[in-house]
Amino acid sequence: MINKRVLVKFSGEALAGEAGHGIDTKILKYIAQEIKTLVDAGIEVGIVIGGGNIIRGVTAAQDGIIKRTSGDYMGMLATVINGVAMQEACEHAGMQVRMQTAIKMEQIAEPYINRKATRHLEKGRVVIFAAGTGNPFFTTDTAATLRAVEIGAEVIIKATKVDGVYDKDPAKYSDAVKLAELTYDQALQDHIKVMDDTSIALAKDNSLPIIVCDMSKQGNLLDILNGNMSNCSIVK
Ligand code: UDP
Repeated sequence: MINKRVLVKFSGEALAGEAGHGIDTKILKYIAQEIKTLVDAGIEVGIVIGGGNIIRGVTAAQDGIIKRTSGDYMGMLATVINGVAMQEACEHAGMQVRMQTAIKMEQIAEPYINRKATRHLEKGRVVIFAAGTGNPFFTTDTAATLRAVEIGAEVIIKATKVDGVYDKDPAKYSDAVKLAELTYDQALQDHIKVMDDTSIALAKDNSLPIIVCDMSKQGNLLDILNGNMSNCSIVK
């Protein structure tokens, strides 16, 4: 086991299931079980969840009625809704969990305090970091990278629907080739776009490896941390 502390990022859409929006408790349960395999293996786990299954700032502001900043705050609140759901699912699966929010809402969760988060992790508690970075014009990928760097995670795992990074969209091109390993600069290329530029730049500056993997393959997260990289790509 090489990794002691990891940050796992799930998109909001991942929680939506077949409906395409909202929260599917079957998926929550599945994700919680996957996280539990890591916790049971002694890995300290931080989680960031997006909010795209509920609302995104850019989409909310599309017709100009809602301002982008307000839309972004709505998106950050969406990540809190997902975070509460994820916390419940993790507790239901028997884990100790704490949620911390980048925007204070103390009736719901602790505010983000780095030292407190680190202490929770040391005690084996899963920590869910919600409300993104707390600032509009950022994404939860950037929030995930930021928190990963802040808590000293050895790697960030972006759990997606695909088993890694391809040289072109595998859904559109049958001859798309999977890239097992790529550099941060390759990941910044327009046609690859593993994450947004801000998050990749932050990972690059801090030499934080980014693993992109298929979350629907059961046991994949633990396999990856055990060194089986066949269902993922790594940016480093
Ligand atoms: N958001 C933001 N600042 C942050 C993180 C998120 O303003 O630091 C807003 C932004 O509007 C974004 C929404 O929250 O569209 C939901 O996050 P994201 O789109 O990253 O979720 P995902 O695509 O991962 O579901």
